[in-house]
Amino acid sequence: MKVTYRRPQLHVTELGGKLSGFASISTSALANSYCLDRTRWARDTICAACYARAALSGFRACMAEPLAGNTARLKVPLDQLDLPRVDGVVALRFNSHGELGSMWEFDNYVRIAAHNRHLHSALWTKRPEIVNEWMRWVREQGLDEEDRDPGMGLILSSPRVGERVEGDAVPVWADHVYTVYEREEDFPKDAFPCHGRCRECMICYDRHMDAPMHIAALLHR
Ligand code: SF4
Repeated sequence: MKVTYRRPQLHVTELGGKLSGFASISTSALANSYCLDRTRWARDTICAACYARAALSGFRACMAEPLAGNTARLKVPLDQLDLPRVDGVVALRFNSHGELGSMWEFDNYVRIAAHNRHLHSALWTKRPEIVNEWMRWVREQGLDEEDRDPGMGLILSSPRVGERVEGDAVPVWADHVYTVYEREEDFPKDAFPCHGRCRECMICYDRHMDAPMHIAALLHR
């Protein structure tokens, strides 16, 4: 992977294993007030089994500090000079280790995706209100249709294990709804089963222009 900046600011992580060929730009679940709050009171949601928190406190502890730096930098609009260009990978995954913190963070990701149109990009979030706020904000700016396109796959993560978000609760911008289940037998028949091998699949990185697709995955504790 090669990262080119005019002025380095953000930490870009090259992913390995099943996600080899992917890069991630993420905040830290250990430095994000939403994630910290959920850890305390949301025992009945997927936040209670947060993989990112476990990784950053354990085998990926070396990433905690650089990602905490990203948390701080992404809170405010990045200067154009600070947008990284990433080469030598197939896709960019936003917020693999922390939840969206603010509208400006989302706007920064949109701008990074636009700066890297040669890559596929995707973002998972349990906070539709932030993307809705961004949609309202760009409308108020009077931007044309093209500038309003986030330019990445937007995946709504269902907050509760085994309970997918459905119907009117799914925002119009969601390309997919991603829900985790305790057992594979619980996957709904109409859901696409996620095997975690993104490079072979790439469904989440495709825009799904009709109705959002439901994706089912196993909960990893
Ligand atoms: S559905 Fe496909 S692209 Fe999405 S997370 Fe699973 S393996 Fe990756």
